[in-house]
Parts: sequence; C-alpha cells; structure tokens
Amino acid sequence: MKEPVTYQNLFGETITVSNKKANPLLKLFGKGPEGERCKSCRHLYGKEYDKVYYKCELRGDTNGPGTDHRVNWPACGKFEAE
Ligand code: SF4
Repeated sequence: MKEPVTYQNLFGETITVSNKKANPLLKLFGKGPEGERCKSCRHLYGKEYDKVYYKCELRGDTNGPGTDHRVNWPACGKFEAE
C-alpha cells in the first residue's frame, strides 16, 4: 500500500492525500460542474518524460507519483474550461 503524500499547494497550504481513490481536491473545493472531468480543465497540464505525467496546478508538484493527477477524475469546484 502506498503511503500518503504531504505537500504544499499553490496557496501555501499543507495537504496530505492518499492519491489513490478520488480526486483529492474534491475535499478542498467541492464538486465541479456535473459531467466535467479534469482533462477539460485549464489547470491540468502534462510533464513529458518517458511518458506523460499529468498534474493539477492547484495541487502542486512533488516531482513524484504522489501528485500525479488522473485526467478522468471528476472535476472539482475550481474547474475552469480550457
Ligand atoms: S477540475 Fe481542474 S482544478 Fe480541479 S482538480 Fe481537476 S484539474 Fe485541478
């Protein structure tokens, strides 16, 4: 089982998440628009190495898997269409 990851988001808040089951930003910002996914949000971006690792700008980035973001997670309340 993976350990929870602690990091600071763009607002300087310390966040601890398991990263496994659900979009962790739902706890912070609530649900986004019905039917929207992170892949349609302007805050999602990809880092390209041997493959593309997706990150959400609002989660921060540990340069590790703890902040990898699933493109098909349901959108949070900070969703902004691309
Ligand atoms: S909806 Fe946008 S801001 Fe919210 S978690 Fe997804 S990518 Fe991040």
